[in-house]
Amino acid sequence: MTFRASVLPVLIAGLTACSSPATTPAPVAAPVTPAGPAEAEITAARIAAHTRMLSSDLFEGRGPATRGGDLATSYLATQLALAGIAPAGDNGTYFQQVPVVESTVDRGFSLSVAGRTFKYLDDVVAFSGVEDPTVTVKGEVVFVGHGIVAPEQKWNDYAGVDVKGKWVLIMVNDPPAPSSEPDLFGGKALTYYGRWTYKFEEAARQGAAGALLIHTDESATYPWQVVQSSWTGTQYSLPPEPGTPALGVKAWIADTAAKDLVTKAGRSLDALRSSASMRGFTAVPLGITATATLKQVSARKQSPNVVGVLKGVNEGQAVVFTSHWDHFGTRAAAPTDPPNVDRIFNGAYDNASGCGAVLTIAQAMARAGAKPARSIYFVFTTAEEAGLLGSEFFAQHPPLPMGQVAANINIDEANPLGRTKDIALLGSDRSSLGAMLTAIAKERGRTVGHDAHPERGYFFRSDHFPLAKAGVPALSLTEPEDFEGPNAAALKAKQAAYNDKDYHQPSDQFDESWDFSGAADDMKLLAALARRIAAEPALPAYNVGDQFAQKRAK
Ligand SMILES: [Zn+2]
Repeated sequence: MTFRASVLPVLIAGLTACSSPATTPAPVAAPVTPAGPAEAEITAARIAAHTRMLSSDLFEGRGPATRGGDLATSYLATQLALAGIAPAGDNGTYFQQVPVVESTVDRGFSLSVAGRTFKYLDDVVAFSGVEDPTVTVKGEVVFVGHGIVAPEQKWNDYAGVDVKGKWVLIMVNDPPAPSSEPDLFGGKALTYYGRWTYKFEEAARQGAAGALLIHTDESATYPWQVVQSSWTGTQYSLPPEPGTPALGVKAWIADTAAKDLVTKAGRSLDALRSSASMRGFTAVPLGITATATLKQVSARKQSPNVVGVLKGVNEGQAVVFTSHWDHFGTRAAAPTDPPNVDRIFNGAYDNASGCGAVLTIAQAMARAGAKPARSIYFVFTTAEEAGLLGSEFFAQHPPLPMGQVAANINIDEANPLGRTKDIALLGSDRSSLGAMLTAIAKERGRTVGHDAHPERGYFFRSDHFPLAKAGVPALSLTEPEDFEGPNAAALKAKQAAYNDKDYHQPSDQFDESWDFSGAADDMKLLAALARRIAAEPALPAYNVGDQFAQKRAK
């Protein structure tokens, strides 16, 4: 550790005071400040202290728009203030208020096509992209295959067809990669074009009024019952942005019902599907009209992202850390509950630990002896569990243009099980951030892990993703594989047991035996990486041909 010029006046002032009369109390010398992030302050104990606090029963499971959620956001804002991080939310506060629409669809939803009425739940489930209490969509049905517009793959399922005000019938997943093009749509890996969220987004961009996603067990990797249960009850969304097209009806249709619908048009769904899996497919207007009426009860709530900034030399560009503070709150008592049942979803690992880790990084970066070259934002997002809503809102309403955000580092869950050789970040194979990460890991005698399941599309399911979609190169911390020491196998087993038993359950609670020494190593590395990204002359970029490269290129 070396003294830097900027701290010398403080030290000299201290020396001068020492020579003054004995009645004057000697001022406390300012602590020595290092040039980079004050890594020595990134400790397991600090991460544990924040995690213990945020996951205590006092915070009642940190549900958005609840008392416990308000306590959690107050704690985060207070800690940022104490660390000397400036507010960067609304009106000079640490809070960026996020509007959240809660809506419940009436079970009387109906869809009829050419004399047949499809049954809600058995054949179809639906939600709306608008807030009106009654939504009616009537129009021709157009089969659009996979519903993908991917310029970098030279693929456009909407080419030459006008779907404005109509229904689109869409297949989920990516088109299969033929042997002549083994890397088409990522080969075996799932690209974002394959995700159901993309299908609805693209259909809305094309001006469709309603969209029907065809469910098959195979393509969705889960049975129709999962669609039924996860698409009924209350759903959460952001209100549509003014001037942005929205779907009146977003629906899933069971495979057998979709086959029947296509038969009404004198076609075969299997034949349409096989033509849609090959290059050169063109969308097929089915010449039949579908009518749906959806009634819903919706209400708006508000819950904040907590946003702070450590200003850089260049305040017009930034590196952004994200970590979600919300979890599921406390569930209502049920008559079948055993006495003293635990109803609080403490979310200690998911994601009090991530918040504790980012707070610890913020404090260490604020204690650096010199400003970072670009600003560093610390964003604690809301409503992640409801569908990445806080980070989506942040990406739509950023404090600086998304094109000026050098990178996003997302921390979903800090490893509480001890030191590891590897550090694994989703997205490291997609952009120039990967090489920077590998270099810094190597300097520290560590290795970079890889996404073990690219076919599951985990990159599209955490808070960094809305920023990635906006063109920001992003990394998201994921589980390590390579624990150190003689207990490595037992620690891996403990990690697996958490995923089986405690994930999204009230039993995800702070455990006094947790060891955040591995998390501290990771956070030191990520703080140093952020500082280095902030200092790179050029902004990081997605690899050529990556789906998210286009946005920034524009
Ligand atoms: Zn979660």
